[in-house]
Amino acid sequence: MSACDLATVAVNAPTHIQAIAPYQPGKPIAELAREFGLAEHAIVKLASNENPLGPSPAGMLAAQESLGGMALYPDGAGFALKAAISQKFDVAANRIVLGNGSNDVLDMVARAFLTAGTSSVFSEHAFAVYPIATQTAGATGIATPARKLGHDLEAMRAAIRPDTRVLWIANPNNPTGTFLPWGEIEAFLNEVPREVIVVLDEAYGEYLPPDERTDTTRWLAVHPNLVIVRTFSKAYGLAGLRVGYGLGHPDVIDLLNRVRHPFNVNVPALAAAEAALHDDEFLARSYALNRMGMKQLEAGVTALGLGFVPSKGNFLLVKLADAARVNQSLLRAGVIVRPVAGYGLPEYLRVSVGLANQNARFLDALKAVL
Ligand SMILES: *Cc1c(COP(=O)(O)O)cnc(C)c1O
Repeated sequence: MSACDLATVAVNAPTHIQAIAPYQPGKPIAELAREFGLAEHAIVKLASNENPLGPSPAGMLAAQESLGGMALYPDGAGFALKAAISQKFDVAANRIVLGNGSNDVLDMVARAFLTAGTSSVFSEHAFAVYPIATQTAGATGIATPARKLGHDLEAMRAAIRPDTRVLWIANPNNPTGTFLPWGEIEAFLNEVPREVIVVLDEAYGEYLPPDERTDTTRWLAVHPNLVIVRTFSKAYGLAGLRVGYGLGHPDVIDLLNRVRHPFNVNVPALAAAEAALHDDEFLARSYALNRMGMKQLEAGVTALGLGFVPSKGNFLLVKLADAARVNQSLLRAGVIVRPVAGYGLPEYLRVSVGLANQNARFLDALKAVL
């Protein structure tokens, strides 16, 4: 839409706001059901990296039990959830900020540190919220070329300008599933100027094999410019409640809390996240199911003669020459996956790891389409 087609009031929005390319979410099941006249129960959604096991049972119970209290505002400081996070990860409560999903934390970082005349650095094919949050703040986004579809830390460091205030890294990255060994990130942190906030987005950290995990929180004491961002949306199964958190230097967290909307995390979300945090059994099941499902998808895709990008997340990028057409055919067959052309990856579809029967549905539909 050109500016002259916009309603008079919309034209008055700053041009950097009008230029934002909207975030493209996975298609909701109800929407596909309406569009193609399909029964909702016959649709498989593997498009948003949600937990196919559903929510953590402990989290769901806690959310249900909290509902009687929803006439009252939630605890705006999130005392109990912060205490639980503090205890589990051995991080002081004044180093924790809670978000309405981790996207909220990403946005707080942008609003606190970015403005017109500043810039942020992110990688090509990185999470779409980094450029959106940057643009919303009126700052300039600098996208660096990817290396093997993942972050090229050398290129990112070289891209830092005097006006750069924030640098975003997702590890593992979405939508590529690429992963940088933690040693490389640690070395990188030692090289980045201390005036630049480094956001380390660990949305998929719980899916890493134990021998590829590291306690990144120990870097917080050494790097006051580090902000670690985590979510309850993926392995904990609470995407619909919207809760995540950031960890950082107390002074940085204090700034994020100033731009944070009061009561940004609601009553059931606070309760569910606190309970889910202790639901080790559910986390273990989510991890194990993801490993099995990933193997199933990799084998199935390979058997169809297709390539894929090895992934450390709960999703797989499948290479398809005509991804747009395949996506349309999959939709017609009741299978929702995620096109990633908007991420500069027009030859791929991203499929989230589901239950064994859901993965099989996807593979069968894919075979029929090809
Ligand atoms: C899914 C995802 C998140 C989580 O977003 P929420 O707002 O917490 O649901 C954050 N970062 C990346 C890279 C993701 O893929």
